Amino acid sequence: MKKTEKEWKKKLSSEEYEVLRKKGTEKPFSGKYVKFDKKGKYVCAACNNELFSSDTKFDSSCGWPSFYDAKKEAVEFNDDSSLGILRIEVVCKKCGSHLGHIFNDGPKPTNKRYCINSVALKFKEKKW
Ligand code: FE
Repeated sequence: MKKTEKEWKKKLSSEEYEVLRKKGTEKPFSGKYVKFDKKGKYVCAACNNELFSSDTKFDSSCGWPSFYDAKKEAVEFNDDSSLGILRIEVVCKKCGSHLGHIFNDGPKPTNKRYCINSVALKFKEKKW
């Protein structure tokens, strides 16, 4: 179900709204999942769509949580030339919210680096 921006504003914290709906970026090294290595999954903070597994998280030292792969069919990509350079934006496929960007300097096997705002994610611990 599509939400209006007014509804998103009501549902999300102001920090979440700024990143997810306004394509903002949290300050590097400020996010709660930058240095974080628990086993589990990361879902969209806006709609709970399952996005990333901790198995694909790696320490990129770029200041944002980084993954080398996303769950199948979980995200979509848009061209983003907002900084005067072309970057590829990563959005949640289910709700269209902004998550971060993807770069081609990640580790094997994909060589991709999903550079994602902590604020756009919620971590769910794996129950063993
Ligand atoms: Fe979502």
